[in-house]
Amino acid sequence: MIPFIDLQAQRKRLGQPLEDAILKVVRSGAYIMGPEIAEFERQLCEFGQAPFALSCGSGTEALVLPLMAWGIGPGDAVFCPSFTFAATAEAMPLVGASPVFVDIDPETYNLDPESLQAAIEAVKREGKLTPRAVIAVDLFGGPADYPAIARVCAKHGLKLIADSAQGFGCTLDGRHPIAWADVATTSFFPAKPLGCYGDGGAVLSKDARFHDLLVSLRVHGQAVKSDIEGRTFDHDPKYLNVRIGMNSRMDTIQAAVLIEKLKIFADEIAARNRVADRYAAGLSDLVKTPTVLEGGVSVWAQYTIELPDLPGKGRDDLGPQLRDQGVPTAVYYPIPIHKQGVYSVYPTAPGGLPVTEAKAGRVISLPMHPYLGADDQDQIIAAICAFVKTN
Ligand SMILES: *Cc1c(COP(=O)(O)O)cnc(C)c1O
Repeated sequence: MIPFIDLQAQRKRLGQPLEDAILKVVRSGAYIMGPEIAEFERQLCEFGQAPFALSCGSGTEALVLPLMAWGIGPGDAVFCPSFTFAATAEAMPLVGASPVFVDIDPETYNLDPESLQAAIEAVKREGKLTPRAVIAVDLFGGPADYPAIARVCAKHGLKLIADSAQGFGCTLDGRHPIAWADVATTSFFPAKPLGCYGDGGAVLSKDARFHDLLVSLRVHGQAVKSDIEGRTFDHDPKYLNVRIGMNSRMDTIQAAVLIEKLKIFADEIAARNRVADRYAAGLSDLVKTPTVLEGGVSVWAQYTIELPDLPGKGRDDLGPQLRDQGVPTAVYYPIPIHKQGVYSVYPTAPGGLPVTEAKAGRVISLPMHPYLGADDQDQIIAAICAFVKTN
């Protein structure tokens, strides 16, 4: 079987320095907030073109932390796509707020600015929830339409989060999503384009006081510099907890892994784009291949296609047939979030989410990673060609 994502090929490339970096942490004993954490955060700022970066426990908590920092909670609405991984929408109920589901663009699968505008206006008209923020998702690694989405946010006074769990490293006209968003978040789950060897996440932001608040929330609302300045204490302010936070520290070992992975990440993004180009060359006459926004560079977390209408067979027949030929596939995502029981109680954009619902029944993702060889890729392309062309 061809690997869907080949983490072992990457591990071999990283070699001994990676294992040495892990062992160094093990021997140092600084398992929590060791020096690798600050070093990785510094490097992440540089790579992500952001003034501040905070490492945290997961991509899910990276979404929850800014919502907490803005005081978003019961009675508040946060707009997001439904065609995404559940964690995007889960962040809202976790702080007591309501997600409002918005439709997607049929070409990029990312948040449709017009559906967003209509959803915000509908929520305002209804008057039950207060619009506070928008979470755009860089689905499958391609950038959302940040210039248009940021304009809608500015018009309505809403904060903008870029959920770049799948898209960290993607750009639009050479700029990362943080150029338009207040906050960009990512996940270091192993299968993401920049993954560690466990769970981890990060919040990139632009304002020093806001970042300071995230630092506090990450460790149980501990007093940070801005809380302590100008005050005197008769005890160590380390144990002064000034707000309700949580524990969302990333392990030092994961930072050590990520420092090594960041060294090759730009090169891997280039390799992913070569693989994507090769797929497009072999498949674009047969199936709908992905569209990246003009001026955009995707990091290709997934390579997702749609089949044309074929007599007597469809998406759900392709997976098993490819599997028989040693080609794994996956469907991201078969059930839109607003169709899932616990999320079906939340509002959707006026007119529902027809594009989201149509795409959920059509998309299928192919093996995609920087180390996918030409022979394997030819085999995948030939298998899809045979499926589409033979009756
Ligand atoms: C993976 C993912 C998350 C959550 O990341 P975890 O680190 O698994 O918590 C959030 N949003 C999107 C779009 C994701 O793909």
